[in-house]
Amino acid sequence: MRSITTIQLQYAHRFYGFRGEAQYLHGHSGVLTIEVEDSVNPGVNMAFPCNEIQKTAWDVLKNFDHALILREDDPLLPAILDVYEKQGIRNGHPQNTMKGEAFKTELATAYPDCRLVVTKETMTVEGMIKIVYDLLKDKLNIAKITFTSGVNAASQEYEVTKSMDRCPLCGIALNEEGVCPKCGYKKR
Ligand SMILES: [Zn+2]
Ligand SMILES: [Zn+2]
Repeated sequence: MRSITTIQLQYAHRFYGFRGEAQYLHGHSGVLTIEVEDSVNPGVNMAFPCNEIQKTAWDVLKNFDHALILREDDPLLPAILDVYEKQGIRNGHPQNTMKGEAFKTELATAYPDCRLVVTKETMTVEGMIKIVYDLLKDKLNIAKITFTSGVNAASQEYEVTKSMDRCPLCGIALNEEGVCPKCGYKKR
């Protein structure tokens, strides 16, 4: 069975070198749908709690919300960092509080202090799906990711081969010691 959650992301980007309007900086309200597959955990009668999928995903994905996403070779990148630097907001600001955990993967690097994500490839809806899967595949049994942004949409399915050991009382994944990090339940 699948537990499905959606997350809204508002971001700015452009397709550097693209022949079309998308080469100009513009913004989107994107909707990311994550489908997690597992057996139905008999204790809670769920594959995985949707609010927990959301929490796990949001911890890293808030880096993309109200953020600028640019490809690493885009000349706008040094120009914008220069403006942020001169304005004194490059390394953070007291009102920039909704910050995610900084991350660096093969495909993307997040700089939460200046709400910037630098990507290896152009951040199309397809590109975003690759980045998200890479960030979350070890934390959630992801069976499908869909991303829609304006008229653009893409989805990818993944084969789920393992089942997660989950708490029979609250449904979330148990840690390596077999203990629920939320309620303290211990597997024996
Ligand atoms: Zn766009
Ligand atoms: Zn629990």
